[in-house]
Amino acid sequence: MNKKVRVRFAPSPTGGLHLGGVRTVLYNYLFAKKQGGDFILRIEDTDQSRYVAGAEDYIFNCLKWIGLEPDESPLHGGAYGPYRQSERKTLYREYADQLVKQGHAYYAFDTPEELEKMRNEIPNFQYSQHYRTASGLRNSISLPANEVADLLDKAIPYVIRIKMPEDLVISFDDMIRGKVNFDSWQIDDKVLLKADGMPTYHLAVVVDDYLMKITHAFRGEEWLPSAPVHVLLWQYLFGLNEMPQWAHLPLILGPNGKLSKRDGAKYGFPVFAMSWADPKPGDPDSYRGTEGFKEKGFLPEAFINLLALLGWNDGTEQEIFTKEELIEKFSIERVHSSGAKFDYEKAKWFNHEWIKKLTVDSWSPNLSGTVKKLFIEKGIPITDESFFVKVLNIIKDRCTLLIDFVSQGSFFFQLPEQYDLEAVKPKWNEAKKIFFKSFIEELNAVPQWESAFIEDGFKKLAVLQNIKPGELQLPFRIMLVGGKFGPPVFEIAAVLGKEETILRIRYVLELI
Ligand code: GLU
Repeated sequence: MNKKVRVRFAPSPTGGLHLGGVRTVLYNYLFAKKQGGDFILRIEDTDQSRYVAGAEDYIFNCLKWIGLEPDESPLHGGAYGPYRQSERKTLYREYADQLVKQGHAYYAFDTPEELEKMRNEIPNFQYSQHYRTASGLRNSISLPANEVADLLDKAIPYVIRIKMPEDLVISFDDMIRGKVNFDSWQIDDKVLLKADGMPTYHLAVVVDDYLMKITHAFRGEEWLPSAPVHVLLWQYLFGLNEMPQWAHLPLILGPNGKLSKRDGAKYGFPVFAMSWADPKPGDPDSYRGTEGFKEKGFLPEAFINLLALLGWNDGTEQEIFTKEELIEKFSIERVHSSGAKFDYEKAKWFNHEWIKKLTVDSWSPNLSGTVKKLFIEKGIPITDESFFVKVLNIIKDRCTLLIDFVSQGSFFFQLPEQYDLEAVKPKWNEAKKIFFKSFIEELNAVPQWESAFIEDGFKKLAVLQNIKPGELQLPFRIMLVGGKFGPPVFEIAAVLGKEETILRIRYVLELI
């Protein structure tokens, strides 16, 4: 029987999730769900020096926002917990000891000062097979056995390092790139267990993927150089047959090479899923905070849709996919092996399409709350829920970002802030004035307050008074909207209601 597919996303809580990070989540998720498998979130927080307060909550909230909830996580629990590496601390030691016993790892007693000295003396120094026996380094390979025993006896702090084999080609099959090879002599002896007993990422990721029965993992290509270390650890500890299949995702490119968080500030687009202010002292850029896709007004549906297409397509022209369609269609064979360029204009296009696609009635309470808040911030209280929904539904096709709802919709809730009378004045005349006065009478008599009836009354009256209806529509729009924008004018009148429509016509008749 085939093993149950178990796919993990294993972020370190070092900051907000940027586009690349969320795409990694998404591909892990889609792959897992497509195979009917589990999607696991593991927090890799063994490097306390890189820990950033708030980053873990941010990750949970972000997955919630985009609707990619894990089956197992520190929040959701599961049979393979704990899912936070700092809570698994005691698990790793035995594997490091096993590696030492097998001769695949060794103790290194060098102090940070001693290592610093080596770095100063030897250009491009790396703790590797080329230097591990160099004078000045103190480890269980360079020192005589009795000295090592003595240091251990005295509880002198040490780290455990992997002993990279001398001349080995290390390979594995990447799901995206195919066979990837590395020369062992080029790779340094990475630390596996730190002096404080905490594992490093390399040891923890392998042990946890094993203990959590992970079968597949997508991760960013920045982890490719670490892969040979992981392959060896798998081989030494658990056997290569147990190793998950990896897919190293290519970079997301910005306007100038690799997309960076600074690109966001530079070119004015979001790079984080949700707003993130890095509480990292000493980094002036980080303090400023970066507005996220969520706060910028992206719908989660649009966000995952655009991310899915950054490096994958289904082989057709289709671009708009629901999450369910993505799960059904996602295939690793169609993930590109070269970097995908992020285009903010295209991202906005996705959002526009999604705003058009969803009826406002189907919005989540969270989303309508967000839009309501935007109105309130502009001094427009929303008191009538069903009127609000009606308004949003008729303007949504004109909105690209959520904030557009306010600029497109505020005139429904209050008189227009400005009237573009200049657009009307040149062709304004007494006949038109008479038309609108009699149109008020007509409106009072409309059998049903619906756009078709209003339009019918408007056009018949125009014919009767011998004026082209087309010439009257612009003034009517200016009366209701204030400017030359918005949905069809008769639909606007229908939503505004009879009294308000008449009031606005009267008001502008006084102004021109
Ligand atoms: N903890 C690593 C990170 O922060 C995960 C790398 C991996 O997926 O193996 O991205």
